[in-house]
Amino acid sequence: MSRPNRFRDVIRIGPVQIGTHHDGRGRDRHTAACTAPGCGFSADYPDRSGAELAARTHRCTP
Ligand SMILES: [Zn+2]
Repeated sequence: MSRPNRFRDVIRIGPVQIGTHHDGRGRDRHTAACTAPGCGFSADYPDRSGAELAARTHRCTP
């Protein structure tokens, strides 16, 4: 995954990167995206803890 400038507070948990961005409607969204080749997991969450939980529990699909 590239790291778009619009993301801030980017952290990594295992292979999953988490970044916060505005959704364009005045709210923050939190995206978890796996960087492992061939995985392709990516999801948005309304809160940071949800994104971090998803990253911690993520298992790559082969
Ligand atoms: Zn993965």
